[in-house]
Amino acid sequence: MKVTALRAHPVSVKLPATFWVGNASFDTASIVVVEVKTDEGLTGLATLHGRSMKTVVAMVHELQALVVGMDPMAHEAIWAKVFAITTAHPDPTKGPRSPLFHADNRAALMTALAGIDIGVWDIKGKALGLPIWRLLGAERHVLPAYVTGGYYRSDRPNGGMRDEILSYMEQGYTAVKIKVGASTLENDIERIAEVRDTLGPDGAMMLDGNGGYSLAEAERAIDAFAEYKPAWFEEPLHWYDSYRALGKLAVRTHIPIASGESEMHAWACRDLVDLGGVRVMQFDATRSAGVTEWLRVAAYCHLQGVAMSTHHEPHIQGHLAAAAPNGLNVETFPDAERDPIFAGLYEDRAQLEKGQLILNDKPGFGFSIDWDFVAKHAA
Ligand SMILES: [Mg+2]
Repeated sequence: MKVTALRAHPVSVKLPATFWVGNASFDTASIVVVEVKTDEGLTGLATLHGRSMKTVVAMVHELQALVVGMDPMAHEAIWAKVFAITTAHPDPTKGPRSPLFHADNRAALMTALAGIDIGVWDIKGKALGLPIWRLLGAERHVLPAYVTGGYYRSDRPNGGMRDEILSYMEQGYTAVKIKVGASTLENDIERIAEVRDTLGPDGAMMLDGNGGYSLAEAERAIDAFAEYKPAWFEEPLHWYDSYRALGKLAVRTHIPIASGESEMHAWACRDLVDLGGVRVMQFDATRSAGVTEWLRVAAYCHLQGVAMSTHHEPHIQGHLAAAAPNGLNVETFPDAERDPIFAGLYEDRAQLEKGQLILNDKPGFGFSIDWDFVAKHAA
């Protein structure tokens, strides 16, 4: 079997409000759908939670020059060939390289690599007639899921999350993550208290700072938040000092530190574990480097006693968490206002039920795309 073509389709849907987190705001949901086509009629699919969609799409198409003709079962070889671009010297004897392949576009290249790698794994499952969770050796296909909500919203500037949290509990969720760090500490304490009161003492509440704090601010915040018993404190620190300073925060508190969704590769995840004291790793295979790299991260984390929790795209990454010995849970976005793409893009996919992700038995990642939705929301 050989890869014959790569296709990328950007999709964007306008949200009903502006959503804030610690370091950013957004008013659209976006995704890139990648197809890896083969000469045997199998097509591998990926959905990418990436940024710079335009560059990612161009990069996927540009990478056809490297990947077309390769055996899609050879995921390590494909991964290595694409990754090698990030360190290759220009070779004047071979003509000019793609103008896209330069250091400024490194993140987009790693996202494109994620799309190719996930597509290749999807093909592998389809060729063998196995869902990826089984291909990776899992026995379980039902995983604990938590919901990410509790954003700062333009239509709800002062919190008021009780109804939102109750709606998740009515769907069977017992674990909810909310955003912190984009407001005053006093306001965040009120928001957290409201969520803890709504969830009750047994519900799990996670806090996500999205890089909103300095070390000193994070120390004050974690001390103030501790009495509400957060299950973890995620990505608290500003981007520029998020390894060593995180380690200082980690030794100061008994609250587990989570991080990894912003990292591009396994070496950075190693540093989060070794220097940052991270206890919950959230490396995102759909944002950077794909399944192949996620498995490397999971193996390292397993050796260090660190759990794997997924970030976005549970229909893909749920398979990985199901099989990993240290797979903890999956992040989900059941609120169609926040994630209209998860609600509308798929003809078929893993389902959310009673606070759990249920993976199906279909080969590959077990999802198919509603191409009318892609056409309607083409970005
Ligand atoms: Mg996060």
